[in-house]
Amino acid sequence: MTALGEWSARTRAYNLTRLEQETYDVLVIGGGITGAGVAREAALRGLRVALVERRDFAQGTSSRSSKLIHGGLRYLPQGDVGLVREAATERKVLRRLAPHLARPIQMLVPVYSRTGYLTIRAGLFTYDHLAGVSKEERNRMLSREETLALEPWLKEEKLYGAGLYYEYLTDDARLVLDTLKAAAALGAVITNYTPVVRLHLENNRIAGAWIADAMAEGEVLVRAHSIVNAAGPWVDEVRALQGGTESRRLHLTKGIHLILLHQRLPVGRCVVMSAADKRSVFAIPHGDLVYLGTTDTDYTGPYDDPPITLDDAEYLLEAANRAFRVEPLRVDDVVGAWAGLRPLLHEEGRKPSEISRKDEIMIGPTGLISVAGGKLTTYRRMAQRILRLVLERLAEQGFRVPEPIGDSATTPLSGGDFDGNVESLVGSLQTKWQGIRPELLQRLVSLYGTNADWIAGAIIADPILAEETPDGCGLTRAEVLYNVRQEMALTLQDVLERRTRLFLWDRQNGLGAAPTVAEWLAGWLDWSPARTSQELAAYRAHVAEVKTFRPSVATTEGMAAHA
Ligand SMILES: Cc1cc2nc3c(=O)[nH]c(=O)nc-3n(C[C@H](O)[C@H](O)[C@H](O)COP(=O)(O)OP(=O)(O)OC[C@H]3O[C@@H](n4cnc5c(N)ncnc54)[C@H](O)[C@@H]3O)c2cc1C
Repeated sequence: MTALGEWSARTRAYNLTRLEQETYDVLVIGGGITGAGVAREAALRGLRVALVERRDFAQGTSSRSSKLIHGGLRYLPQGDVGLVREAATERKVLRRLAPHLARPIQMLVPVYSRTGYLTIRAGLFTYDHLAGVSKEERNRMLSREETLALEPWLKEEKLYGAGLYYEYLTDDARLVLDTLKAAAALGAVITNYTPVVRLHLENNRIAGAWIADAMAEGEVLVRAHSIVNAAGPWVDEVRALQGGTESRRLHLTKGIHLILLHQRLPVGRCVVMSAADKRSVFAIPHGDLVYLGTTDTDYTGPYDDPPITLDDAEYLLEAANRAFRVEPLRVDDVVGAWAGLRPLLHEEGRKPSEISRKDEIMIGPTGLISVAGGKLTTYRRMAQRILRLVLERLAEQGFRVPEPIGDSATTPLSGGDFDGNVESLVGSLQTKWQGIRPELLQRLVSLYGTNADWIAGAIIADPILAEETPDGCGLTRAEVLYNVRQEMALTLQDVLERRTRLFLWDRQNGLGAAPTVAEWLAGWLDWSPARTSQELAAYRAHVAEVKTFRPSVATTEGMAAHA
């Protein structure tokens, strides 16, 4: 539990004062999964930790991934056994730390020739052994008939059979939030909407950073013995704040996803398809929706909310239309979308999809530790590698390193303190909080894990908090109150996009709920009528923008990278 018993706008104000007054062992720049992982790891190591995020937590790449916790199968063709083992191990660790955010999902890879079938069979067999896959999750090879029985909408022409194996599905933004909340509970001082605007050097060594308060005015100097730059696509920008002539290291590639109604593409599990350029893309069912992903193209446009072009959208729709015998999917069928940037390390002469996804840590001339690349899947291991460097820097400066207070492989994330059986957690909450609809509890547990207890308890304690938005999406006042009091939500978009996830998983992108939620937020966050209207207008514009697919501009984006 944090100092105020909450993690809210009030906590943020209190934390800003602390940031000004205290000196930290480590200051983390960036509240995506990389920064969140480092903050938690450092807090478990007993260090004094601060983390500052420029906009909202996970607003960068970490809310825009494919949401898969990969077991490492994809690294097999490159022969990188170490990476396969690391990803497979981390997948199991994550399932232990946050079972609500690591749900197994079947992956079906249709094959169209005997050679393809034998290749996939050999790959899956090797993978199961290398990765130590549990008995229940071992792969299976399917005949053509078995494949069609599972996915009857697949085109039959030339279909030979399929490989079936398991990956885990997560909720990327919620993974970041639950990691940050765990770090905060261990004492990390965390703020959103606080961009680092300058670095503070003493004798040419990094000694702190100036942050601005994007919600008010003024700047604060945060002093720290070591600084980790986990700014994702913005890593080079933060590196440049050191001064000097450090070259750009990042190569950004864009990946988009499209959301459609499940009835338009009724897949039962994740189905892998081949795009026009032979890259693998996929369709993943999610409630009454299904999402398609992803692209991998060079990118040089704005980093905030990268736009989706018509070519991007058509690339994915074409792949689905080639694989399935459904009424042809068109751009008009898209009900939602998102685009993210991969902060990869530049490798001369390589195409986007050929660049390594491995993380790399760079130490700048001032001692700034920057990290690029990496995956959601292996974020904890990346954090451990970074922390080793932080500890070295502290030792060099003569600081005593305290005893660790916990192990990141066994200490659950916020909401993850249960035995992994989601159904039995729902059942026990149903018994404890009688009168709450089972579907509501199911939804709450899948988003918040054991923190669903807070929300259910609030509904029972105060029936006003049972009020739901009028659009029928099942969002209660209590849940939004939880976002505000315990998850530091400060804007309408924070609530609808990254906490309740209605932006993605509601057919109306949360627009039906938005006016009511804005009214509730206005009461709790003390918004004027003008601010409330502004929040609503900004949210509506954001939803409209993400679904406006403009023709590509050849000068800013190398669409040839699709090929
Ligand atoms: C399309 C796509 C699909 C992917 N799919 C998967 C997948 O299925 N599985 C998987 O494991 N990985 C996947 N990844 C990779 C994974 O999403 C990323 O590696 C990861 O999210 C990067 O996290 P990050 O914290 O480094 O960056 P970010 O999430 O971008 O976080 C960096 C943060 O730093 C903040 N920041 C920037 N500048 C400043 C500043 N000056 N002051 C303070 N804060 C600042 C930003 O606002 C941002 O929130 C995917 C990536 C993409 C793009």
